[in-house]
Amino acid sequence: MTREEVYASIYTHEEIYRPPQEDSSACLEVALGCSWGNCLFCDFAKDKFQIHSMAKIEWNLRMLGRLEPDKKRLFFLGENAFVLSFDQLKQIIGMANTFMPNVKEFAMYARVDDVLRKTPEELRQLRERGVCDLHIGIESGSDSILLMMNKGVTSFDMIQAFQKLDKAGIGYYVTIILGLGGKAYRNLHALETVRLLNRLHPKCIWALKLKVWDKTPLDKMVKRGEFEPMSNRDILFEERMLLEGLTLDDCFYMDTTVLDKYTIQGYLPEGKEQMLGMINRLLWQTMPKK
Ligand code: SF4
Repeated sequence: MTREEVYASIYTHEEIYRPPQEDSSACLEVALGCSWGNCLFCDFAKDKFQIHSMAKIEWNLRMLGRLEPDKKRLFFLGENAFVLSFDQLKQIIGMANTFMPNVKEFAMYARVDDVLRKTPEELRQLRERGVCDLHIGIESGSDSILLMMNKGVTSFDMIQAFQKLDKAGIGYYVTIILGLGGKAYRNLHALETVRLLNRLHPKCIWALKLKVWDKTPLDKMVKRGEFEPMSNRDILFEERMLLEGLTLDDCFYMDTTVLDKYTIQGYLPEGKEQMLGMINRLLWQTMPKK
């Protein structure tokens, strides 16, 4: 088999989607799609949800071990690969130890309810076996917005899940969606998301501006006049309110979607003033002319 043929045999899609922090990780496809798949704004979970058979995952690992024998970190592909049971994850990690013995760290996307379904002892054992980071979409700390967007979990669920991860020593990178409350909930979104984030210990907060994707349920709500998206400038005001309120230590903050063309990033708390300064400059530059 050529290298291209091997790649085609282990990845369903030509393009591999993973968070920026996993750019240098090897990627193992363990599942396709999202087990929930009901968030109104989501354009991400296009595949029908399925967990690959252990035989298929073993094949993927054997091939990946030949292609990328020196990799030390493995990212499990699947929109919420942490939905796999403790036993399934344990088995896959065991196979990885055989076929990719240099891999010592495992990371993947997770939903909050995937964490809640695992016992503290299971989480502890997964950490012991190398599961060190999960990437989790929080989107908002407001229960009204989570409900409106059909996220399927509440802010209380999130606090419970992240406390379990803290206790198990498993790190987490979270994403939030700026503008997710639309005009109706603009201040509430910032204030309640800050309140939630300040109770957690994320390694990184990745803020992304809401994009209303074609043909999503949210797109239909916009067309029916049931959701009014915020302007870019109002989203910047929202982000300023959010950043001002964050009291986290040792957390990297980044927004790669500022006014659709800029990135702001920095460590909290030391980089906070600089990021706020940039937001203020952009607000000044985009002030409507009289
Ligand atoms: S949990 Fe994530 S991948 Fe699944 S539907 Fe919601 S936003 Fe999409």
